[in-house]
Amino acid sequence: MRDLEAARRLLARSRQALAFTGAGVSTASGVPDFRSPGGIWSRYRPVTLPEFLASAEARRRYWTYKKETWADFAQARPNAAHEALARLESQGRLLGVVTQNIDGLHQEAGSRKVVELHGTNRRVECLGCGWNGPAAETHERLAAGEEVPACAGCGGPLKAATISFGQALRPEVLEEAFALARAADLLLVLGSSLVVYPAAAIPEAAASQGAPMLIINREPTPLDGLAAVALRGEVERLLPALLDGVAAGEPA
Ligand SMILES: [Zn+2]
Repeated sequence: MRDLEAARRLLARSRQALAFTGAGVSTASGVPDFRSPGGIWSRYRPVTLPEFLASAEARRRYWTYKKETWADFAQARPNAAHEALARLESQGRLLGVVTQNIDGLHQEAGSRKVVELHGTNRRVECLGCGWNGPAAETHERLAAGEEVPACAGCGGPLKAATISFGQALRPEVLEEAFALARAADLLLVLGSSLVVYPAAAIPEAAASQGAPMLIINREPTPLDGLAAVALRGEVERLLPALLDGVAAGEPA
């Protein structure tokens, strides 16, 4: 309970927090957790970007897997954690959300400033001409029997607008995330195991500027030792409870 009170005090003092979110924020929404035991990557070997570019067979495997996992993404809805962050932003107390998630649920919950480090599964892009469109249209083509969708404009390969294995994060996206981290007076690290670099370097950047870190995750993380408070548990339960406590005017 002492940790919960310390977390409430951190939130009550903060005026421009930044949230850094990972898969644990979306599991309650039914979004598959790629890296967990029994997760997608234990059933499918991921197609790397070099493989995708090199062979039509790899592109067919890629789109087979995207097709089979699309329903889970399409049906997912924001949960109480997404909604709590959108509320915090609308109160003017959150600079934004930097997320490792590709599901678009922060925006659907009403968050306006969202930096998607790993891109978005809701869009598809052409690796030939850079065309970018809604993923739902490509999935309609897949459902109609296409196996390797190509760009209607240039014939180039279509790929989800996500960062694949073997694909570098976009420099401008990373820079925006680091700029937010440097401006934050509190870092909320939510549902991320903080093991994927360079994404995990963003919370470290905020910490090195002196911003306290509040971690909420089901499992211990490598940065727990740097955190002012590290809470074990479900984000969708703990974060709304903390914000309700702050809103109720508990002494800071
Ligand atoms: Zn194209």
